[in-house]
Amino acid sequence: MADTFQKFKDSTSRAITRISVKTSSSLEKSKIKMHIESITKDVQQLTYEVGELLYALWLQGESSSGALTAKLELIKQKKDEIEQLTVELNSIDARDNEILGNKVATCPGCGAECDTTSKFCRKCGYKLQ
Ligand SMILES: [Zn+2]
Repeated sequence: MADTFQKFKDSTSRAITRISVKTSSSLEKSKIKMHIESITKDVQQLTYEVGELLYALWLQGESSSGALTAKLELIKQKKDEIEQLTVELNSIDARDNEILGNKVATCPGCGAECDTTSKFCRKCGYKLQ
């Protein structure tokens, strides 16, 4: 009887841990995603500006300028930042899997890391089981 209760307590506290880990991670992840989204908008704006600038230069018979290079470097910087944030996002998933003891498998379809309990790959939909 006491054993059953202990088991119930254990599984309940595991469930609570699971929920709290997932909740704090999803908050963390949505913050990073919003950051990525705003940088992506910056990149789109910059790309547009580069196009306009390039066109203006082309009209003047030129193909490059310091202003153009500066904008291109800024785009590169922002894209690097997006890449870094994406790595951060993935590491949150990896950390959660470690905390929760999820077994991780590599999807044969796309190489993404998937929970072995999932039926389909989250990324490409490949049937895992
Ligand atoms: Zn996949």
